[in-house]
Amino acid sequence: MSEVREFCVKMRASRCGEHVSGAERIVDERLVPRAVAALAERALSHEKGSPDFINIKVEEPGEMVRLKALAVATNEVSTAVEGRARAAQLLAEAGVGRANEIMALFRESYSMRGAMLVDADTLERLEPDRERGVRATRMDAADTAVCGVFRGKNHFAEAVVLATKVANAPGIVGEVCVSDDPGYVTGYVAAKSMGYQRITVMKESGDPCGGRIFLYRGPREDVEKCIRFLERQSVIVEGAPSAPNAPGEVRLDGIARELDAIEQAGLSRSCRALRSPTGPTARVDVDGAMRDVVVLASNDYLDLARDPRVTGAAAAAAHAWGAGSGGSRLTTGTQPPHEALERRIAAFKGEEAAILYATGYMANVGVVTALAGKGDVVFSDELNHASIIDGCRLSGADVVVYRHGDMDELARRLAAARACRRRVVVSDGVFSMDGDILDLPRFLAVCRANDAFSVVDEAHATGVVGRTGRGLVEHFGCGHPDVTVGTLSKALGSEGGFACGAEIIVKYLRNRSRPFVFSTAPGAPAVASGEAALAVLEAEPWRVAALRENVAFFLGELAGHDVAARSESAIVSVIVGDERRAVKAAEALLREGFLVSAIRYPTVARGAARLRVAVMSAHTKEQLAAAAAAIARCGM
Ligand SMILES: *Cc1c(COP(=O)(O)O)cnc(C)c1O
Repeated sequence: MSEVREFCVKMRASRCGEHVSGAERIVDERLVPRAVAALAERALSHEKGSPDFINIKVEEPGEMVRLKALAVATNEVSTAVEGRARAAQLLAEAGVGRANEIMALFRESYSMRGAMLVDADTLERLEPDRERGVRATRMDAADTAVCGVFRGKNHFAEAVVLATKVANAPGIVGEVCVSDDPGYVTGYVAAKSMGYQRITVMKESGDPCGGRIFLYRGPREDVEKCIRFLERQSVIVEGAPSAPNAPGEVRLDGIARELDAIEQAGLSRSCRALRSPTGPTARVDVDGAMRDVVVLASNDYLDLARDPRVTGAAAAAAHAWGAGSGGSRLTTGTQPPHEALERRIAAFKGEEAAILYATGYMANVGVVTALAGKGDVVFSDELNHASIIDGCRLSGADVVVYRHGDMDELARRLAAARACRRRVVVSDGVFSMDGDILDLPRFLAVCRANDAFSVVDEAHATGVVGRTGRGLVEHFGCGHPDVTVGTLSKALGSEGGFACGAEIIVKYLRNRSRPFVFSTAPGAPAVASGEAALAVLEAEPWRVAALRENVAFFLGELAGHDVAARSESAIVSVIVGDERRAVKAAEALLREGFLVSAIRYPTVARGAARLRVAVMSAHTKEQLAAAAAAIARCGM
């Protein structure tokens, strides 16, 4: 195995000869390109303005010294005068006698690019080049080098790293530092003996002056040794905190490191607020400007979320029954709208009974954990939705994950598990990431032959699959699973989950399903809007047909651009592969006016990142054709 070398990557940026910013990393060779890019980006985006000269230097660090980060303490003060007095006091405590005079020296250090090196007792200036001063350089926090993790722009960690190196330099008895950032008034005094003492106010806000003073005590002939350590010795600092926590509070550090790793892997997620109701188009903030974009990422497939009949029902129910339900379904949380919706769902699905949950997620968790417990076995398709996976985990049952859609493997593994008390097979009806459909007739036959419970999650099937949107049973014209799970939050444009089946099973769920028993019932507005949406769907089956026609049209357009995709539902996946590329493609599409989701690990497997397009019945052919063309341009 060849050894991985480390490199020091150093960036200095200036404008008209004036220093703008500087930073450095020590990283292993595999991370050098990323470090160079990150530092270049940092130089170009500095708030002090854009530089006209960026110098990035990559060199072997030579022998490395590892140091433990100085402990951090915070001194709260309210004025700059108070802060400077506190700094002088701390220096005095550290054995530096002429502290006030040293603080006065600060005025001169402001114009310097490096630090002032001063004899702690005689206050004589010791740096060979007084214009330039002394620079502490060649250092980094340990995890950057060891874990290959970039802390990004963590000024605090960088400050502690620098102070730690300086405090450990031969002959240095202390350091005083004030930032040159006009908006940043916090400074510090540091020494090996007192650690890193943050002082919350060291200058007036708006003052661009800052600088540092290194205090030296020792023979003159050793000054050179001190400077060599500061400027040439490579140092790795272990345990530098990324935020100024109180002493001992390092718990946030691990969190910051993990977030950095997520960021680096292209897996960071954040919320984007829509500035309008959902619909085939919506208003979003794109790079700071409000724009109306075509939404190809919403599960509101039939455009019911903003339908006046649906929103009107929610408003009326809020007035009639209140906003919240005030209790779990088994206490005070059942009102006529809840009972009416359960009856309507059962009728729509052709089942004896239905049970409502606050979300589809809770419905899956509730059903799987109620049907299976310790000693039982759950058989779960490898591409099942996260809520099914979580239900399996919470159930305490043994879990057998079978290959996606492989009914032969399912049959074999069911047969092998015969002796077990209860066997439950659970599958998405429409798989939420690939948009393909479960072969329900075969699935049911395998379950029946092995006397196993069959559970099918129709979250993406309800309102989409089957001529009138009733789901897989309608599509295949076959029998029913023991339990059908669904949600009101997708094609029905509302909110809440459900399970339905025979009365005996639903009664069992009411007694055994913990998310039903121990969580507040959804409020009447959500419930009434769900029922109104179901009524619209029953009255207007043309919406389902329009959706299907749009999907077929969109697939045809993609094929015309040689983009491979297929779908049996409203979900069209275009596989991109690399996580960062998928995110870049989605960003490019947004700038072109199309909101499309980049789906990444852990939602799908690593390296199987994709653009996931959700088609709506209300999209126009023009919108879909333009979207397909844009995907061909940006996605591939
Ligand atoms: C969205 C989804 C759920 C969860 O439904 P919510 O109502 O959003 O909680 C469950 N299963 C599948 C397959 C889904 O796609």
